[in-house]
Amino acid sequence: NTPLHELDPDIAAAVDAELHRQQSTLEMIASENFAPVAVMEAQGSVLTNKYAEGYPGRRYYGGCEHVDVAEQIAIDRVKELFGAEYANVQPHSGASANQAALFALAQPGDTILGLDLAHGGHLTHGMRLNFSGKQFDVVAYHVDDAGLVDMAEVERLAKEHRPKVIIAGWSAYPRQLDFAEFRRIADEVEAYLWVDMAHFAGLVAAGLHPNPVPHADVVTSTTHKTLGGPRGGIILARKDFAKKLNSSVFPGFQGGPLEHVIAAKAVSFKVAASDEFKERQRRTLEGATILAERLTAPDAREAGVNVLSGGTDVHLVLVDLRDSELDGQQAEDRLHEVGITVNRNAVPNDPRPPMVTSGLRIGTPALATRGFTAEDFAEVADVIAEALKPSYDAEALKARVKALADKHPLYPGLKK
Ligand code: PLP
Repeated sequence: NTPLHELDPDIAAAVDAELHRQQSTLEMIASENFAPVAVMEAQGSVLTNKYAEGYPGRRYYGGCEHVDVAEQIAIDRVKELFGAEYANVQPHSGASANQAALFALAQPGDTILGLDLAHGGHLTHGMRLNFSGKQFDVVAYHVDDAGLVDMAEVERLAKEHRPKVIIAGWSAYPRQLDFAEFRRIADEVEAYLWVDMAHFAGLVAAGLHPNPVPHADVVTSTTHKTLGGPRGGIILARKDFAKKLNSSVFPGFQGGPLEHVIAAKAVSFKVAASDEFKERQRRTLEGATILAERLTAPDAREAGVNVLSGGTDVHLVLVDLRDSELDGQQAEDRLHEVGITVNRNAVPNDPRPPMVTSGLRIGTPALATRGFTAEDFAEVADVIAEALKPSYDAEALKARVKALADKHPLYPGLKK
């Protein structure tokens, strides 16, 4: 029963340093969030000790009566949250959920149609080095010159290639997708429609983004982005896909489920059904809109900064630096220097290599969780706009970041 600080001071020091980093900087990576303490408590519980291959009521191990309760609660809550007939809460991550979903819908060698990685898609939607790109015949659709998914191209490619699966979803896209139109196209070519809502699931749960569940055959998600839970994945679907999806997750790809993470997912689904969560998602969207307005203002444009698609209706903004003297790497470094964490991101048809890029992806979920208001987001947006100008006062900007971090303490009960 030796505590971590005594048993392993090296790891304890890394954990403490990470807590301090999260507390003292502004986290604006669009795919990150801060899980509630209760979620981390469930995740750090004795449930980590339990083997539970199978599903609630049908396990291959004894002693599963309590993890059965937790897993069934997670299933029931997430079905209710998104209005789904079926849920699988066992995928270890978003990529694992996607792998299980894709292999339940298609066979290796089948054609899949997804958004190009360089235009905002995800690795698991057909990237060359990913399982999806290696084992399936991939056709990619793109965004148009206005930065919007080109639905005419989706329809044209669908008719030409007759994919088994059409994938709607993204990792870097600032607008909402038209799920009804994707459904219409999928029906026309007799394809399955799989929606990956990993990024915007929290917005859907709050009723602030269209719900893909009524339109799609299968919906996958992570639980740790806008949804704000533990790191993990889920699959939702209509009842008729239940058997195939369950057996694809286990025994298809996974062994024992992470019951401690599943319990933490259940806690986060409870939180996601609350009014506090809805209010937080509202601030998430408000913050992103403020950021987009500020980064398209005349002085930002003068510094060569712009925003893809001209704005946002989700939790992130894609900054276009093609006219700036900074590339994506330099801009990421500059913001890091003043205490703001973002990631560089390729813009469509990026002239620079993927390790450098000409853009930034900036998200508001973590700061909204921290309690940031419209006024705070306006100040953050100003700091970012100042930092991306040719000359900037790093010390003054650091002080403004520190004031914001101090105003909204993160995990005040946890040791620094
Ligand atoms: N799907 C989308 C759209 C994502 O953006 C991501 C993560 O970036 C994933 C899936 C994969 O999630 P994970 O990192 O948990 O495997």
